Amino acid sequence: MSQFHVNAAPPDPLFALVSAYKQDPSPTKVDLSIGAYRDDNGKPYILPVVRKAEELVKHDSSYNHEYLPMSGLPEFTSAAAKLLFGADATVLAENRVASVQTVSGTGANHIAAVFINTYRPEAYKGEKMVIYVSNPTWANHKAIMNHAGLEVREYRYYDSKTLRLDIDAILHTLETAPAGSAVLLHACAHNPTGIDPTQDEWKKIADVCERRNLFPFFDSAYQGFASGDLEKDAWAVNYFVSRGFEMLVCQSFAKNLGLYGERTGALHVILKDPVVASNVKGQLAKMTRSEISNPPAYGARVAAKILADPELFKQWKDEDLPAMSHRIIKMRKELYQKLVDLKTPGTWNHIVDQIGMFSFTGLSPEQVKRLINEFHVYLAANGRISMAGLNSHNVDYFAKAVHSVVT
Ligand code: PLP
Repeated sequence: MSQFHVNAAPPDPLFALVSAYKQDPSPTKVDLSIGAYRDDNGKPYILPVVRKAEELVKHDSSYNHEYLPMSGLPEFTSAAAKLLFGADATVLAENRVASVQTVSGTGANHIAAVFINTYRPEAYKGEKMVIYVSNPTWANHKAIMNHAGLEVREYRYYDSKTLRLDIDAILHTLETAPAGSAVLLHACAHNPTGIDPTQDEWKKIADVCERRNLFPFFDSAYQGFASGDLEKDAWAVNYFVSRGFEMLVCQSFAKNLGLYGERTGALHVILKDPVVASNVKGQLAKMTRSEISNPPAYGARVAAKILADPELFKQWKDEDLPAMSHRIIKMRKELYQKLVDLKTPGTWNHIVDQIGMFSFTGLSPEQVKRLINEFHVYLAANGRISMAGLNSHNVDYFAKAVHSVVT
């Protein structure tokens, strides 16, 4: 008999959907579950600029499979920081950003959580470090934070009656948060709602964070992918930087470079003092060493090539990124128009008002079940759909399926 008493892990709801989709023999099945970009034929997509960069990386005389340093590929982390904060950012010129490479955005969230749990902000007096996350949030946030030993509390983000941001609830919760607590904020294209605060609402969130001495913990998984504009999608992060916060940003290149499985990301911690920043970088590298020794090289080399080469960068910024975000925006418009034309009960403006990979449809769990069982359309139980799973061949079928389960 084993000395371990281990119960079977519950299946991950999202990955369980993906495998149900794969096993479904229906020729009309639609996969709107996982947040990965698909082309208009529903196929995984390698960005043209990534193909070019891969060729260059492989033919580079320095290409090999040696280990990276513990803190990652220096060309990658510095270019990644410039992409977020701007090449001329004061915080970079003053050496006040500690950047390390991570196992994509998930790894950045994890190392960030371990970091704040280990080195709590000075103001924090609590027994257990508390992090506030939005309700709802990306399905993995709570698991990552709990796993790192943080206490997770929620702020209500979304009003299911109005299908809008609940800014009053956000501000009210943060107003009563213990000083020094961390607040997880989605930099843009909030997952799963697709609803971001306006600039004015971001200012109010920054005000309460400042007044209550809260520590902003940004998760940036969709820069450039949300609006097609890299600077616009980094506005909130840079607004907080301009307010002088000590804060951190988790950065993923899974979506905007389509490097999902290559696990390409970074963590940036902004500090007031360059000496502290240098110490933080050393400690983050040490944490990385004890967990993964050194981060994966291939995606970082490809990303660094694109970020450093003016021609490749231009292609990514002006062609590849807008092509992905514009296709998604086009699908939003088509879906909205089809539901309006079908006179599907309810209001559907939120489909076009929301931004990024996902749309929070407002469909109930029962309606979702019917979509899966009767129409072979796979989507999360909370009604979230990955817009990238829609295309010119299935949007009509999906709109009619929604119409059927709503009426
Ligand atoms: N953060 C958010 C909000 C996300 O939506 C995702 C992916 O869906 C991630 C982080 C992490 O993605 P990855 O670990 O693939 O970079």
